[in-house]
Amino acid sequence: MKLSQSFNQRLLDWYADHGRHDLPWQQDRSLYRVWVSEIMLQQTQVTTVIPYFERFMARFPDTHTLADAKLDEVLHLWTGLGYYARARNLHKAAQMIRDDYADQFPEDFETLLTLPGIGRSTAGAILAQALGKRHVILDGNVKRVLTRLYAIEGWPGKKMVENQLWELAESLTPEDQLTDYTQAIMDLGATVCARKANCPACPMNGICKACKSNQVASLPTPKPRKSLPVKQTHMLILKNKQGGILLEQRPPTGLWGGLWSLPEHDKYHSDELKSWGKQQLGLLLGDAHVLPVFRHTFSHFHLDITPVLSQVKGPANHVMEASNRVWYNTTQPESLGLPAPVLKIINSLTGSDFSHS
Ligand code: SF4
Repeated sequence: MKLSQSFNQRLLDWYADHGRHDLPWQQDRSLYRVWVSEIMLQQTQVTTVIPYFERFMARFPDTHTLADAKLDEVLHLWTGLGYYARARNLHKAAQMIRDDYADQFPEDFETLLTLPGIGRSTAGAILAQALGKRHVILDGNVKRVLTRLYAIEGWPGKKMVENQLWELAESLTPEDQLTDYTQAIMDLGATVCARKANCPACPMNGICKACKSNQVASLPTPKPRKSLPVKQTHMLILKNKQGGILLEQRPPTGLWGGLWSLPEHDKYHSDELKSWGKQQLGLLLGDAHVLPVFRHTFSHFHLDITPVLSQVKGPANHVMEASNRVWYNTTQPESLGLPAPVLKIINSLTGSDFSHS
């Protein structure tokens, strides 16, 4: 029997007994629901995604509602999931579907690829899972399974290795049962052939090359390590008399694009901060209290954040004249998207967690 036949048989038999059959996006399976789930699942585990997915669907049940919503509200429902470009792309793609495709979700692979945030694997996963069409997927889980199954060395992000994996994925993908096959191979990578592989419980035990050659722990080959640069910033927590915290909206593109963040400044000693507050914001600020520094790590750098707290004295409403500023009311927070470290700072000050209230 060819490895692909043996692989598929083992995979589908295993999936019938051990796979996930009751995920929210497997119910009422539509192109829209599968699309949103696939985008949320990029870089994020299923258990984290489920509550986000359910809140998102309750508020945006279809592309039209999503397209008509304000980006702020979409980002608010994304707060805590990270990689916010995914939310911006979902919103933009929903508007393209509304405006260019008369609200009909495209069912064609090439058209899906033209929508922001949808690459080859995601387009394949959407069509295979929602419509049962034969398309190949190669997400992080599948890459891990295939590098081990065939004992492929080399970092999978390298073009040559990736191409080889696409060829193997293509050769394994069956002609039918695409919905089950696609979910099954993702489940195998997520639950059994995970970073720490559970080979004794794996249906591929017996045909897996890495397992036979004792290479499981070293595959997939990790990305060549470069130590990440470290950047520093001071985030200013300016609190008005009502307990509101000043937030500014960041530019639409770039880091945390469109999210609401604390003002950042390098002047954090009391005197400097006070004169900066007066000149730039027209605010009378109290002494600066420097809080403990903490690190937030992005894929390409570490950011060491020093929160600096200062009480605003006197009237403070005039800073709202700029449309990109709000006094964030921590007792009745508005539906705004906040970067994770900003949420962490605010939660630590208030002792509450209101990321989705
Ligand atoms: S036998 Fe082990 S390494 Fe091979 S596919 Fe299964 S879990 Fe992964």
